Amino acid sequence: MFLKNPKLLFKSSSFRLITWYTVIFIISSLIINIYTYSVISSFIYEQSRDEIYEDLDEMGVLYEEEGLETLKEDVFEDDYESIFHRLIGNEGQTIILRIPEDWDEFNVNKLDVANSLNNKEWISVEGDEQDYEFKSKVLFDGTVLQLGQSMDKRENLLAKIRKVFIFAIIPIVLFAYIGGVFIADRALSPIRQLINTLNSIVSSARIKERAPVAPAADKFSKELITLFNSMLDKIESLINGMKNILDNVAHDLRTPMTRLRGTAEMALQSENNEHELREAISDCIEESERILLTLNTLMDVSEAETGALKLNPERNNIAELIDGVVDLYGYVAEEKKVSLNKIYPAEFFLTIDSNWMRQVLANLLDNAIKYTPPGGKIDIEVVHKGTKAVIKIKDTGIGIPKEELENIWERLYRGDESRTQRGLGLGLSLVKAIVGAHRGYVEVTSEPGSGSIFSIYLPA
Ligand code: ADP
Repeated sequence: MFLKNPKLLFKSSSFRLITWYTVIFIISSLIINIYTYSVISSFIYEQSRDEIYEDLDEMGVLYEEEGLETLKEDVFEDDYESIFHRLIGNEGQTIILRIPEDWDEFNVNKLDVANSLNNKEWISVEGDEQDYEFKSKVLFDGTVLQLGQSMDKRENLLAKIRKVFIFAIIPIVLFAYIGGVFIADRALSPIRQLINTLNSIVSSARIKERAPVAPAADKFSKELITLFNSMLDKIESLINGMKNILDNVAHDLRTPMTRLRGTAEMALQSENNEHELREAISDCIEESERILLTLNTLMDVSEAETGALKLNPERNNIAELIDGVVDLYGYVAEEKKVSLNKIYPAEFFLTIDSNWMRQVLANLLDNAIKYTPPGGKIDIEVVHKGTKAVIKIKDTGIGIPKEELENIWERLYRGDESRTQRGLGLGLSLVKAIVGAHRGYVEVTSEPGSGSIFSIYLPA
């Protein structure tokens, strides 16, 4: 459904991206907030207790060094008005007591003396309006100094911080959403461009259209668009290749088809006897066979040239392959009194499609025998040249005139001298296309009257 309506796909992908981004952003922000709050609250907690510890220490020293009266004066100083003070004597009697003024509801009796003396930890006391905490310290003479504070101040501060964090959620959600929209827009922009290009190709059937690569686009977008464009290049070249095949086939088959029709028409119009009619039919069959062969070879050449030909490359001993082809043509060469010389090692491995390479070698050997007069010789060599393997087929035949050398690779081209010989003019086009499909190339050097050397270069 989405493929039929790309807009829907985009909408849904963008919605999903925004949602994911927003959710992940909110969750991570919440985690950071909670962590920060817990660090701050424990800091405030410790800070407030540290003050009590310090006061206990300082007052303990003051009492030891300067006596009870000085401690009393110190306890009743204005600075300490928010702190509870109590000095408990050895018999549990209260010696000094200062209760902060705003502790109206606090009942000092709730703070058990015996418990205060024994307890080394903090003692908490719950009140109706506020909660309190107390810490005691045994002084040098066995008396116990007890200080306390309301937990209210601390709780109020933490409540305020909590409020700040809770209110921060609104801008976090807002930022998350805006960020999500921005990210989704950026992430999907190459896909949107591709969809636009696809739409325009589909609606206008213009295969030449390409998605633009924005200079500011990120690496992913550039890669995606470049890949998409090269896929379109490939499709375009395949379509053009097919079109060329069709054009060529139509063009190249026109002459033999006309000839075929001419033969048939002539036979129909004349009042020939049965024997002549039979001959005309057999001419027609021969011509149609030629047409079929031409058609098949043309298709092979075009497929190999456009890269549509499916090769099956494997490691093959090319020496064995050539042996087979030489055996096949040995009889024809012998009949024509042309000698075939094999000049190559018994083993020479190359990665090739053996069926197609056999066809290539057969075409070249067939030509060499065809264009070499009796008494001549043909050498087949295989050598290494740098990173390449070179297969050479040298003949002592009629050679090729300079002005024809460039044309011999064209489809259906036949040299002037060779018209008397059988052939379609497609052998060398197929050789070039197949060797090209193997990522190799072919070369020819020729001396009219002395012979030709056809060399196939293949990656070794
Ligand atoms: P065909 O042999 O059917 O004419 P090819 O495509 O095989 O077609 O060859 C194209 C032309 O190249 C030939 O017509 C001929 O003129 C020339 N040619 C190819 N091989 C040789 C050769 N070994 N010696 C001389 N001419 C050659």
